[in-house]
Amino acid sequence: MEICKTILSLAVGTVLAVSGAFAQSYPERQINMVVPFSAGGPTDTVARLIAEKMSADLGQKIMVENVGGAGGTLGAGKVATAEADGYTVLLHNIGMATSATLYRELAYEPLKAFEYVGLVTDVPMTIVARKDFAPTDFKALVDHLKANAATITMADAGIGGASHLCGMMLMSAIEAQLTTVPYKGTGPAMTDLLGGQVDIMCDQTTNTTEQIKAGTIKAYAVTMPDRLKILPDLPTAMESGLADFNVSVWHGIYTPKGTPAAVNERLAASLQKALADPDVAANFAKLGTAPSSATDATPAALQAKLESEIPRWKAVIDKAGVYAD
Ligand code: ASP
Repeated sequence: MEICKTILSLAVGTVLAVSGAFAQSYPERQINMVVPFSAGGPTDTVARLIAEKMSADLGQKIMVENVGGAGGTLGAGKVATAEADGYTVLLHNIGMATSATLYRELAYEPLKAFEYVGLVTDVPMTIVARKDFAPTDFKALVDHLKANAATITMADAGIGGASHLCGMMLMSAIEAQLTTVPYKGTGPAMTDLLGGQVDIMCDQTTNTTEQIKAGTIKAYAVTMPDRLKILPDLPTAMESGLADFNVSVWHGIYTPKGTPAAVNERLAASLQKALADPDVAANFAKLGTAPSSATDATPAALQAKLESEIPRWKAVIDKAGVYAD
């Protein structure tokens, strides 16, 4: 028995020593950061701002790889099956929580397939339309959508995207079924909104603020209870009559299940440093958002967030009765 215990403790000691040594030398080469949406969109924008600062701290390049499609589930699936060696990470949004319910057959289990690094930012959304869309305010928009539902198109990033969730909430709140047009991310969706190929979209301020300010798209409402400093004239959906319309898009960084804890901690420390950088705060502020706090940019905080958000959104999705299959 004693011999068994000794062998066990030697084995544990060896594993810890190896992972400790690994963590000390980590990272020794480029890290791949998968963004499960197209380049040029809001999740991609957040990832690139963070990756640049984390690269400087880690002393190795973080390369952003866009793996868009199926509302973010293709990119998340790619990371779920990647080597758990710390060289593949995922930067995903609230879709990590909603896809757990929206897809009854998902290739990975959101709560079982990943380790956690930390929360990055929580971004408000805006309900926007092509520049020449007729309604002049949110109330007129709602009337117009209800009266013309059959002919109105709404862009989103596919079932599982934050834009899909927000669109679903809007349709359910006003009881109108619009035609949704899925893209691999809302970067290309914005291009089509600017070109007038689609009518409306609900998307993060990290994608819409500059266009709203430039007057190249029309904005009707913000999806959080308070107005935004950056767009003070834009009313909230709540003050415009949609009582429970409250959604923001949290983002987190994950690694494949089995990635050593010391590596996740090292990445979290780097994330916290990046988020504390004044350039990041200034760039985020210009886009209507703010960096997560040092206590939120931790593995435990992201895990708690995902665990609480899955049941929270399950109730909303089950009420709307919309699924991917
Ligand atoms: N805003 C998108 C979403 O709907 C994704 C993106 O392109 O970042 O989740």
